Amino acid sequence: MEKGRIRKGIGGFYYVETDQGILECRARGIFRNKSQKPYVGDMVSVTRNEDGSGNIEEILPRTSLLLRPPVANATQAIAVFSWIDPKLNATLLHRMLLAGEQKGLRMVVCFNKSELMKDADRRMVTDWFKNTGYPILFTSVAEETNLDLLVEELKGHISLLAGPSGVGKSSLIEKIARGGHRVEIGELSEKIGRGKHTTRHVELFRLEGDGYLADTPGFGNLALDEDMDVQELETLFPEFDDYREQCRFKGCLHINEPDCAVKDAIGGGISRERYQFYKTIHEEINNGIRR
Ligand code: GDP
Ligand code: ZN
Repeated sequence: MEKGRIRKGIGGFYYVETDQGILECRARGIFRNKSQKPYVGDMVSVTRNEDGSGNIEEILPRTSLLLRPPVANATQAIAVFSWIDPKLNATLLHRMLLAGEQKGLRMVVCFNKSELMKDADRRMVTDWFKNTGYPILFTSVAEETNLDLLVEELKGHISLLAGPSGVGKSSLIEKIARGGHRVEIGELSEKIGRGKHTTRHVELFRLEGDGYLADTPGFGNLALDEDMDVQELETLFPEFDDYREQCRFKGCLHINEPDCAVKDAIGGGISRERYQFYKTIHEEINNGIRR
């Protein structure tokens, strides 16, 4: 059967990218059931009708599914923040990185509006994330700086931008996806009239070369799973990877245990900022605080 990827879903229609171009599809009745709902990013099998429209017959297995924002098969998220205007909420950034780790996404940190940062600010941010492996980008849409580095990170991935409002996510998407093409709303959904509603919907832009970037208007945050425990939390800090094996106790949570290699590395291979954040969340979990 012919296969394709859902690039956009709106008003009950799905726009599926096939080898023959975009096919406007309806999902068959079986998908009305929520658990089988197709999502943007899904690979699907389609059949064609005589009127040129198509049907989604089957959803192929997913590698990931996010619900907020609703995107299937995403492989990476770009945490977009600014240093000022709006002022950095560092806790939110660290939380977002945890959420991405939890969901198995590759995470990239992008400080946009970087022309408003001093060199010392950039150095500080870089130092926070040492040994995490996260690429740290300092972009500016205003001055067109380092946008090529971001484009490079997007290659071969299905990516989404997450971050507070006002940091420049839409501006970045506009710059970067200019070469990629939007999916036009098809005739069928126009005729029925529902396609006209510009409700909040997700669309995947195809990037020049290789990869997709999700436009997820209004979905700024990547939310943490509610039921995280302290053991899981400990696994979500990639900069602990080089140290936890050397802690005296297996299962060390690096709080009060003696001979803890993670604690010994604070200020060295592990930044104080990140360890402090780890401790804060650890205590929140122990105190039953949920966000
Ligand atoms: P979003 O809410 O994250 O999608 O942010 P927008 O893309 O709507 O941008 C918010 C405001 O920041 C707009 O006025 C943009 O023109 C402005 N902006 C975007 N990128 C930059 C930048 O690199 N530097 C500066 N100074 N302003 C920017
Ligand atoms: Zn330890």
